[in-house]
Amino acid sequence: MARVLSYLVFIGGPIVLWVLWAARSTGLFSRGIPLGIREKAILEKYAVQYQRLSPAAQHVFEQKVAHFVVEKQWVGVGITVALEMKVMIAACAAQLLQGFPELELRHFTRIAVYPKAYRSHLTDRVHQGEVRPVTGLIIISWEDFLRGYAHRHDAHNVGLHEMAHALWFENGIINGEDHFFDAVVLARWKGLTVEETSRIRRGKESPLRDYAGTNEAEFFAVAVEYFFERPKAFKETSPALFDCLSELLRTDPSAPPVP
Ligand SMILES: [Zn+2]
Repeated sequence: MARVLSYLVFIGGPIVLWVLWAARSTGLFSRGIPLGIREKAILEKYAVQYQRLSPAAQHVFEQKVAHFVVEKQWVGVGITVALEMKVMIAACAAQLLQGFPELELRHFTRIAVYPKAYRSHLTDRVHQGEVRPVTGLIIISWEDFLRGYAHRHDAHNVGLHEMAHALWFENGIINGEDHFFDAVVLARWKGLTVEETSRIRRGKESPLRDYAGTNEAEFFAVAVEYFFERPKAFKETSPALFDCLSELLRTDPSAPPVP
């Protein structure tokens, strides 16, 4: 009997571990985390995009925020990461992921917050934020994050910018939640990126700031900032780019808010 039991434990242990791993990797445990009252109050007070949504969409948004607050590893570098900071940074991700209720940016397990712009040891340049796919790390300067939200229509938003980088990388990292962008729309987006980047580099007028011309990833991140902070102007000046991004992200911030 003892031998049978020890055999069952020997076989059962790895099976239990596998089931736990499978449940975890499919997001089974992380879905449906309820958002606390304090966290919800922060969203209601500060998260403009959240306030525009229908109750059903707000529920999805809240679950996304709860997932990021609970499941991501938050690291303060010279600063304590308060609950309010976690909720607002998570809200940024939720805003970008509105069209993808199942996405969690799974590859990015850590979010580091600096009090202000910092010098990166990787680039030896001063950064307001960064995304490091090799280590699954998103970095945000809190001072610059706040500035991005204080000026809601200037198309500078470091939170959205870095989350856009993470989303762009996530689409190409094989981890079970990859290739979520529609392939046809993505190909159209890349074609438009080449055209617009060329215009920017030739000094032609563009709806996007010059930094978008750096490379494909920066073009996407800068376009996301314009998309959410100046949707109407972006759509008017460059409808093809706007509509393509709207299809890619499965959301339309130029639409009127739900009454
Ligand atoms: Zn960037």
